[in-house]
Amino acid sequence: MLANQSTKAFLASQIRLSGIVVMASIALSVTLVWFAVADVATEFRFISLLYAVLIPAVVAPLAMSYTVWQNLKNHHLHAEVRRLANCDDLTGIANRRSFTREGARRLATVAASDTPLGLLIIDIDWFKQVNDRYGHEAGDEMLIHIARKLQQGSPSDALVARLGGEEFTVLCDVSDQQDLSTIAETLRRGAEDACLLYRGEPIRVTISLGLAIARPGDTLSSVLSRADNALYAAKNCGRNQFALAA
Ligand code: GH3
Ligand code: MG
Ligand code: MG
Repeated sequence: MLANQSTKAFLASQIRLSGIVVMASIALSVTLVWFAVADVATEFRFISLLYAVLIPAVVAPLAMSYTVWQNLKNHHLHAEVRRLANCDDLTGIANRRSFTREGARRLATVAASDTPLGLLIIDIDWFKQVNDRYGHEAGDEMLIHIARKLQQGSPSDALVARLGGEEFTVLCDVSDQQDLSTIAETLRRGAEDACLLYRGEPIRVTISLGLAIARPGDTLSSVLSRADNALYAAKNCGRNQFALAA
């Protein structure tokens, strides 16, 4: 949708530019011919000026169509390179690289803002067993399925990313710890209630979550580290639950 909008805007700007180039080349051609044939007979002058309009009016749009076509191909290529650099190949959500960049940007605004930033690290429980029992392809399908559930259950402004393997993260504005806990419980229940139908076979998993709230002066790695410790506690307490960092 966004890519379509950006393509439409890009095409519109290219068409505007082409219009300007065509008009400018006609104007330049007419001006040059006007002075070049200033002393010749009126009849010949008229034909010369006619050609001065017609030739650029035909050649310039053709040349510009080719240029726009090439530019559009480059535009698509650029969008694809950006997508490959920032999105996780399997699930299509943000990858660790774009999370690190966008996370650091959001964290930098924490000190200046009244709204705390909440971070959740999410790990699928006993995920290896999904691979072992149903195969790696089923495991991949489960990762896509969980990524979708996390996106659906997260606040609309949240940054949802795959950190790697079966580990995800959600970064979002929260009002307090209670708010962050409510989001975590929504995600936990969303994963627990959902069922992946793989080749007719229902597969269910649960998730464990570690939660931390960014404090002024925090770096992304310090919040991640606190959330990771909380995740470790959630795992140790039996999984399928969330734990808040101290
Ligand atoms: P725990 O509840 O302690 O997190 O147990 P777990 O089995 O989820 O964790 P463990 O670290 O033992 O196993 C993670 C597994 O995730 C092992 C690895 O093969 C699998 N895995 C990592 N990346 C992918 C992937 O992209 N696709 C698939 N199908 N499996 C993956
Ligand atoms: Mg793990
Ligand atoms: Mg796991």
